[in-house]
Amino acid sequence: MVLTIHSLSNMTTAELEGKRVLVRVDFNVPLENGRISDDSRLEASLPTIQFLIDSHAKVILISHLGQPKAPSPELSLQPIAERLSGLLGRPVQFVAESVGELVEAAVSKMANEDVLLLENVRFHVGETQNDPDYSRQLASVADLFVQDAFGTAHRAHASTVGVSKYLPAYAGLLIEKEIEFLDGAIKSPKRPFVAIIGGSKVSGKLGVLRHLLGKVDVMVIGGAMTYTFLKAKGHSVGKSLWEPEKIGEALAFLADAKSSATKVVFPVDHVVVTELKPDAVSMIVDGGDIADNQMGVDVGPKTVALIEGEIYSAATILWNGPLGVVEIDAFSKGTFAVANALAQSDALTIVGGGDSAAAIVKAGLAGDMTHISTGGGAALEFLEGKTLPGIAALERGDV
Ligand code: ADP
Ligand code: MG
Repeated sequence: MVLTIHSLSNMTTAELEGKRVLVRVDFNVPLENGRISDDSRLEASLPTIQFLIDSHAKVILISHLGQPKAPSPELSLQPIAERLSGLLGRPVQFVAESVGELVEAAVSKMANEDVLLLENVRFHVGETQNDPDYSRQLASVADLFVQDAFGTAHRAHASTVGVSKYLPAYAGLLIEKEIEFLDGAIKSPKRPFVAIIGGSKVSGKLGVLRHLLGKVDVMVIGGAMTYTFLKAKGHSVGKSLWEPEKIGEALAFLADAKSSATKVVFPVDHVVVTELKPDAVSMIVDGGDIADNQMGVDVGPKTVALIEGEIYSAATILWNGPLGVVEIDAFSKGTFAVANALAQSDALTIVGGGDSAAAIVKAGLAGDMTHISTGGGAALEFLEGKTLPGIAALERGDV
């Protein structure tokens, strides 16, 4: 690990017993009609919470949910307290505020091993402004701070960065695991190391492509991004999604790729349609050129076979971004073929990215991956080689 951060996992029961520990978790769960539609983020927080319970600490949880600018009942964390209680198998008390007298009173009554969840931190404007007063108030009820919200670690907010100025701060078990896989695996991978990068836009992924170039042995590029590269290479891409203003950067990347040790692989065939709708009749186009009335919506079967070959010969695989329009079943075949090949591979498999992780979960293959990152945007920034403020805030000079 390059950052000198203190980790919760190194702390002893003697150091934690009876301590009031404020834990920033990522409970920004997807909601459908007010119901939690996916528990993954709650489950990902359990190891840290359980570690603190086992160490006889008092656990005070804080999180955001959605993007409210003011208190909004539909984004209350109250239903999450109930769900978490079920997952933990013990009561989780909820307080309808994140700072102030209600919180102070509730914390003062806590016994060791109690778990308390405070209200959505984004109900306060001070949260996203990283306001020192709000940070100080959050910190005032605790002895220690644990940052475990990887999905929000790329934001410098009061509950992710601000509080660490007022309390001794530690990385939680989830943050530690994310760093181990997204940072450690990339810095010292078992080779061959294959990256499969898809998704919608070159503009969103160029940072990742640049960061990984020279570090991975093979880089497979797929998704809509392909078409900006094909266009840059002089091919016709029809109505496919491509970014005219990114042609220059795409060309620069291709030039760098030539002189790098990384083998860059582009799709060799495409699933194309004339209209983007679920019942559209699709065709396979071989090679680089797509007709004016057609758009590429998925990688073709030859490309799938090519990617499978790379996957089966790899020792480490990093996957970020679907290879086609996953929202439409007919155009998600390439993405799911890759998901299946990853599941069958014996390599270390790391999945980073919101839509790619969702595809793995949808395919029921989550248990077959070595690591699925809980952070969409945060994982992407990590893969771009950026320092995340929520992790940098844990950095210490005394280790
Ligand atoms: P992740 O969240 O895993 O990082 P992205 O957000 O970058 O992935 O990309 C996911 C999006 O890319 C999906 O909405 C998908 O529809 C889109 N996409 C992939 N391939 C294509 C394509 N050929 N044409 C249009 N959109 C595509
Ligand atoms: Mg996405």
